[in-house]
Amino acid sequence: MRRPYRIAVMISLIATVCASVAIGGGGAVGKAPILVVIDAGHGGRDPGALGLSSSVEKDITLAVARSIALQATRYPNLSIVLTRIDDRFIELADRVAKARQVRAAVYVSIHANSAPDATARGVETYVAQGARDASGSAALAAELQKAVVVATGSKDRGVRSASLYTARATMPAALVELGFLTEKQDVRLLTDPSVQARIAARILEAVNRFVTQ
Ligand SMILES: [Zn+2]
Repeated sequence: MRRPYRIAVMISLIATVCASVAIGGGGAVGKAPILVVIDAGHGGRDPGALGLSSSVEKDITLAVARSIALQATRYPNLSIVLTRIDDRFIELADRVAKARQVRAAVYVSIHANSAPDATARGVETYVAQGARDASGSAALAAELQKAVVVATGSKDRGVRSASLYTARATMPAALVELGFLTEKQDVRLLTDPSVQARIAARILEAVNRFVTQ
């Protein structure tokens, strides 16, 4: 996630769900599945971070989000909603408006990092300062952080918070930066489809653990 995008992204954190595409889940009989929004960061004319090996953040976030939706059949108690299923630009205002309609129980925004320091690597997860569900968001972020560190084996940069526009967040929400596209080892991991699938599986596992604990 490039710095100028951070505020925009955190706005989408409180909201999202455009073109509402529900995939996966299914729902156990007699019990409504728990709605989980997975937001693939950036898209369309907003590429996000541009990294080594021609890597583009929007492509990596989409690949992981789609993999999460595909693997969600393992969790009939969850219903996954993606904010986008292809390479499209989504206005933040639209994400916010849609989010108000959907009432997700959990919100996970997926991003990848970049830095001028070519040695910076690792996973970090953000919780919005001032989020209404601060403790829920912190617990979710902790699960996500562990999950992605295990999936990639990269450095654990910890759960962080940012003072941003998130005051209207109502559900537990977190933003995970999978790794740095500007670092050789991380970019190799994040562009590998098998690693993307592993990250997706771990994120799903983490979300399920969060909602069932
Ligand atoms: Zn980003």
